[in-house]
Amino acid sequence: MNANLFVALRGGFPADLDTIAIETADTAMSSDAYTWRDLERASAMMANLIASLDLPAQSRVAVQVDKSVEALVLYLAVLRSGHVFLPLNNAYQSAEIEYFIGNAEPALVVCTPKAFSWFAKIAFKAGTKHVFTLGDDRTGSLLERAAQHADTHEPAVRSEGDLAAILYTSGTTGRSKGAMLTHGNLRSNALTLKAFWGWRTGAERDVLIHALPIFHVHGLFVASHGALLAGAKMIWLNRFDPKAVVARLHGASVFMGVPTLYVRLLAEPGLTPAACASMRLFISGSAPLLLETFEAWRGRTGHTILERYGMSETVMLTSNPYRPEAARRGGTVGPALPGVGLRVMGDDGAVVAAGEVGHIQVKGPNVFKGYWRMPEKTAEEFSADGWFRTGDVGKVEADGFCTIVGRSKDLVITGGYNVYPAEIEGFLNALPGVAESAVVGVPHPDFGEAVIAVVVARPGGPAPAPAALIGALKGRIAGFKVPKFVEVVSELPRNAMGKVLKNLLRDRHRAMFGPAPAAPKPAGG
Ligand code: AMP
Repeated sequence: MNANLFVALRGGFPADLDTIAIETADTAMSSDAYTWRDLERASAMMANLIASLDLPAQSRVAVQVDKSVEALVLYLAVLRSGHVFLPLNNAYQSAEIEYFIGNAEPALVVCTPKAFSWFAKIAFKAGTKHVFTLGDDRTGSLLERAAQHADTHEPAVRSEGDLAAILYTSGTTGRSKGAMLTHGNLRSNALTLKAFWGWRTGAERDVLIHALPIFHVHGLFVASHGALLAGAKMIWLNRFDPKAVVARLHGASVFMGVPTLYVRLLAEPGLTPAACASMRLFISGSAPLLLETFEAWRGRTGHTILERYGMSETVMLTSNPYRPEAARRGGTVGPALPGVGLRVMGDDGAVVAAGEVGHIQVKGPNVFKGYWRMPEKTAEEFSADGWFRTGDVGKVEADGFCTIVGRSKDLVITGGYNVYPAEIEGFLNALPGVAESAVVGVPHPDFGEAVIAVVVARPGGPAPAPAALIGALKGRIAGFKVPKFVEVVSELPRNAMGKVLKNLLRDRHRAMFGPAPAAPKPAGG
């Protein structure tokens, strides 16, 4: 059997290849839509172009382009050709690109036409022989060259364990590492999600609004694989625009977003139950969804957001139930998905009791092969009995529901006591005038680390006074958990996936209590 992921995705295409696969939201004209045949032919032409370059087996193909349907086709073409897709966040600048290209040593890179001069220089210096360009308006040498190739192509034969993609982790807590994902990892997770979330196929097929970037696990794998495997139509937005999403909800059935997208959609007056009448599923992930957003969404639309949890190294791990909708629990990420093993370990290396906080470890066919060219780091992140240490801290209740408390690296140890930032953030967010907050530890001469908080004021109201917030917490939680300093800001720094950049907040306030070495942290679990 050919375990090439493309073969599985292609198997989901509907029998009638002339139906619409992707409609771009920028151009409502159906002539600008892409049929399944277009995806099949265009990816074949690109795969033939790649084959004509005679790259070494399992070459990395590094891609930093703006989102477009052609960029998705390029991903499919790389899968078809049996090489390894390596998407790069389009916010990355030259110093970052230099690191990724130097580390991954791709045989082929694709960048935007406007980045060509500097990007090509970095690539050639690192020994890459082929540099193509791709614009989000169908410009660039990749399409020009692909047009000269045949439009049929037999997918390269790959086994389950062969690499399909390398995803560099977002690196919010250190240097980015390349997570190596195999055809088997991606296919098994996509099939699990197809069944678990009830993707509709055939005449009743789903319509997905795709508004996420495609350099990340969420938009590239969870969203695109889901739609392709189900033969579902995608409404494709190159950029997230809340008005465009609301305008396209009518007739759509599935939407996936990071929490910030939901917050921005809630600010749209057009978001009403009537606008959502054809929707069956709203999914959130990549960062914690505030309970307040979860509840506000239910109040406004009548739909309950399904929150799930995963990461670049493992694709999806847990999900709130699909049915019944009422069983979805705000503030939790649901039980482990079928086939995924999940356990919570204490600092002593033993599994903790239900409801106790500890280090989350996982196992399953979805768990990656290791970090690219980092065998030691890989070995460190797996337990002796083969479980992957996610680096997330959380708990699992007796009924299997999992709650993420934070990253183990974000854990604050103050005066020898552990403080989980998410707990303090929960208390802060419930205070009047607070929209959201981020709690971090900074060096402190007496305590090793001190808890501090950065708080976003609720728009429209008076900004809360830091002293009042600290005073309000004092009566509610143990003294060592109360922030020693609170800063009120208008927004938190976030990356493209909506994750708060806590390292940036820590750096900003690092010297606040004077120079002091941070207390040593446990190795994590
Ligand atoms: P990435 O590899 O960039 O997808 O980041 C993965 C990390 O995002 C996980 O290890 C979690 O810390 C975080 N994450 C993903 N989904 C959720 C969620 N639903 N709630 C809380 N954190 C999440």
